[in-house]
Parts: sequence; structure tokens; C-alpha cells
Amino acid sequence: MKPIPLLTESQIKEKIQELAGIISSDYPDGLIAIGVLKGAFIFMSDLVRALQVPCNCDFVKVASYKGKESSGKISLELCPSLSIFKKKVLLVEDIVDTGLTLSWLKGYFSQKGAEVKVCCLLDKPSKRKVDLSLDYTGFVVEDHFVVGYGLDCDEEYRSLPYIGYLKE
Ligand code: 5GP
Repeated sequence: MKPIPLLTESQIKEKIQELAGIISSDYPDGLIAIGVLKGAFIFMSDLVRALQVPCNCDFVKVASYKGKESSGKISLELCPSLSIFKKKVLLVEDIVDTGLTLSWLKGYFSQKGAEVKVCCLLDKPSKRKVDLSLDYTGFVVEDHFVVGYGLDCDEEYRSLPYIGYLKE
């Protein structure tokens, strides 16, 4: 099934430059960016390369999503290897839907002593289940299942350079 185009490559590129500019001025002394695998890997790699401040990179992988719906049960499959105690951490996520994943991750890293902010490329607020403040957001999208630019549907579509949605 071919996704219906939603955001073009150039719209995404422009937004990332904008986000990177704001993040760079908010973190003049640098930061640790932690990407949430797998979906955020392309966004993370473009974002960190657009930053104008020092940035260390790490990743986490959570197990929570089954097919097209969040299970709400979250566990960590991959932990970051960098020390984050008293560090400025920016969680980099592809999309926020119910908010359960990021809210859990924010709590996890805060408990470990990090100063945590979150950056997501896409925000789908219609299905939010928790009150979560997003520090940096790329685009707000409607309640579609979106794919491309790192986002998958059963591992398909991740390598598309644009973002589209699948017809129900
Ligand atoms: P949440 O915990 O906020 O419900 O879900 C966040 C995770 O669900 C995202 O990191 C992403 O992996 C997955 N997700 C939520 N909505 C979509 C969507 O529309 N498309 C894709 N491909 N993944 C989604």
C-alpha cells in the first residue's frame, strides 16, 4: 500500500533546521541527545547534525507497541550507555501518540538524576492518555497512522524520505 503524502522531504528539512536553531540556543553548553529506537533514528541523525552546540548521542529502545496500538506496558530493551546523572538530556522521539512512552521515559531519566526535556518530530494529540508537556515539537498531525522518515508499519516504510499515512 502506497502511503498518502503528508509532509515532504523539504518541509521536514526546514522544520529540523528551525528546531535545531532553538535547541542550540537553549543549550549553549551542549547536551546529550537520546533517540528512541527504532522510529527516531533518522530524525535524530538529521537533528544532531543541524545543532550548533556540542552533542553526545545515545539511544534507548522500549518495548511497548504492538502493531498499530500502544499496549501501555513499557520496558527498556536497550539502556543508554552514557552517564546521565546531572546531565542535560534531550529525549528525541519520532511521534507522540498516547504519550505513555515518553512520559515513562521522562520519569525514568529524571529518577536517574538527569535534567530531561523532550523533542518530538510529530505530535498526535487526539489520543493522548497522559498529561505530557513537549518542549520541542515539529508538526502536529491528525489521527492517522503515519509512516516514513523512520516510522514503520510492521517494519515497512522506514526508509521513505517523506512522511505519509496509511489508509485504514
Ligand atoms: P505512545 O506511547 O505515545 O502512544 O506511542 C509512541 C510510539 O508509538 C512512537 O514512538 C511510535 O513508535 C509509535 N507510534 C504512535 N503513533 C504512530 C504512528 O502513527 N505511526 C507509527 N509508525 N508509529 C506510531
